[in-house]
Amino acid sequence: MSDAARAAVDLADLLLKGNYAERVAEDRAAMPAALRDQVDAARDHAHAAFGENTVNPQPAMPSDFPEWVVLSVTTAWTGWIYGESRTCPHAPTPVMPQPVCAVAWMPNVITCLACTAMLSDITDEQARQCDGCGSSDSESLVGAKIVAGQLLFFLAVCETCRWDNPVLRKGTPA
Ligand SMILES: [Zn+2]
Ligand SMILES: [Zn+2]
Repeated sequence: MSDAARAAVDLADLLLKGNYAERVAEDRAAMPAALRDQVDAARDHAHAAFGENTVNPQPAMPSDFPEWVVLSVTTAWTGWIYGESRTCPHAPTPVMPQPVCAVAWMPNVITCLACTAMLSDITDEQARQCDGCGSSDSESLVGAKIVAGQLLFFLAVCETCRWDNPVLRKGTPA
């Protein structure tokens, strides 16, 4: 397992089980004020770009998502932080906070808001697959979006894997 992959698992674990709100407050307090302002601006920009998400309202806490979703997001995030991701030609870097995009079906690519077309360069077969369970039930597939700080993350989920279904919300696909 690469350092980035291990960090993704650790971070997912922290988000799911740790005291998330407390950790965020601690991290913010530890940041230099100028960087904090930049991170906040990037996050606000990401939220604005993200818009309304009526299909899958975003739960307030990471622990309200299924584990596989949290791990998908942290994998994209740490891959970028560790410099293992491919990026768009504008080469967004974590040291200059700005909104960036990633998708579950191409976890090692990070783009700026202008270059999201790079993220849909997939085969028809890939486009029909659920990012949770891998089934090809394209009838029930819906696009879902998550804002995680400055990262906009996109997934395609089938009916079974939707976390806004109260019965199945916590389910982890087999
Ligand atoms: Zn770009
Ligand atoms: Zn599924």
